[in-house]
Amino acid sequence: MEIQTNFSLKNYNTFSIEAKANQFVAVKNVGELKAVLEQNKSEKKFILGGGSNMLLTKNIEALVIHVDLKGKKIVKENEDFVWVESQAGENWHEFVLWTIEQNFGGLENMSLIPGNVGTTPVQNIGAYGTEIKDTFVSCEAISIENQEMRMFSKEDCHFGYRESVFKNEAKEQYIITSVIFKLTKRNHKINISYGDISTELAKNSITNPTLKEVSNAVIAIRQSKLPDPKELGNSGSFFKNPILLKTDFEKIHQKFPEMKYYEISETEVKVPAGWLIEQAGFKGKRIGDAGVHKNQALVLVNYGNATGQEILNLSKEIQKTVFDTFGVLIEAEVNII
Ligand SMILES: Cc1cc2nc3c(=O)[nH]c(=O)nc-3n(C[C@H](O)[C@H](O)[C@H](O)COP(=O)(O)OP(=O)(O)OC[C@H]3O[C@@H](n4cnc5c(N)ncnc54)[C@H](O)[C@@H]3O)c2cc1C
Repeated sequence: MEIQTNFSLKNYNTFSIEAKANQFVAVKNVGELKAVLEQNKSEKKFILGGGSNMLLTKNIEALVIHVDLKGKKIVKENEDFVWVESQAGENWHEFVLWTIEQNFGGLENMSLIPGNVGTTPVQNIGAYGTEIKDTFVSCEAISIENQEMRMFSKEDCHFGYRESVFKNEAKEQYIITSVIFKLTKRNHKINISYGDISTELAKNSITNPTLKEVSNAVIAIRQSKLPDPKELGNSGSFFKNPILLKTDFEKIHQKFPEMKYYEISETEVKVPAGWLIEQAGFKGKRIGDAGVHKNQALVLVNYGNATGQEILNLSKEIQKTVFDTFGVLIEAEVNII
């Protein structure tokens, strides 16, 4: 476990932004993590997982701790359910594929989301009608301040739409070291009602899909819609879909009757940020090497040598134009560093 200085993070963030870490260390287990925290008490710390949900706008003047803890195991099971624990540094998609191979259900709709298992509770990741909170049981985390381990139950995590305690009250105080999920062993709750999953399955004449078939359908849809960060730097959806009070929404909807929306409760509706951005004229727009993806207006991309600041500037221009056009504020989902 070696602390490196002036370390390039270009290969450690999916936007492929060139930014340097003052100091960088990769930790392989909880013992190493504890030791690094104890030995560097006075240093500012920055936690890095897979780097797929951050925009680096400057060099990081801190000790960057890359969470690389590996391992997964079954901790409990009965006839219907299994409790699986994964260490934080496991790659999420590989973990999902492993659960599917064991015929454990619950994570299949979240196939191919980049990043690490340990980061999934931070923004309560989700896709195709499923969120991590649906299968999450608890996570272990270490306090950066005093190195004590703490268990966070589902209730402790205060999960919301792309939100949790780790983005709010507990922000930058804990490093998640492992997560436990409760998955089905039989009577899987196959959910193909969202997005294009059923259309994708129908293409292959599948009427009663297995976990693997749902996962394959999700993978195929994602590959056709989202740019692969290995080929074109990006961080997935740059903005969250704004949630509006129905009363506010109705006023805007009168002016823009073609506006897309989904009712999420009796009082709230969700509006697709991608649609707002597209209507505001940004789809496919490129300024230097910073751009908006040509097929997905919600995804900002780095065509090669964009700086984080250039992508941030573009995102601010988008926010302003969307606000001026629709009176709706779209907030970044990506962590701006
Ligand atoms: C192509 C693409 C598609 C995507 N699609 C989706 C999607 O469908 N749904 C979705 O929800 N997200 C999506 N994302 C976003 C991203 O994959 C998730 O947010 C993922 O969970 C981030 O994991 P990471 O390990 O890369 O986090 P990082 O980017 O490394 O970190 C994100 C934040 O969490 C903190 N952090 C990292 N590890 C820990 C830890 N162990 N303990 C505490 N804090 C930590 C970091 O300091 C940072 O603030 C997508 C991203 C890309 C590039």
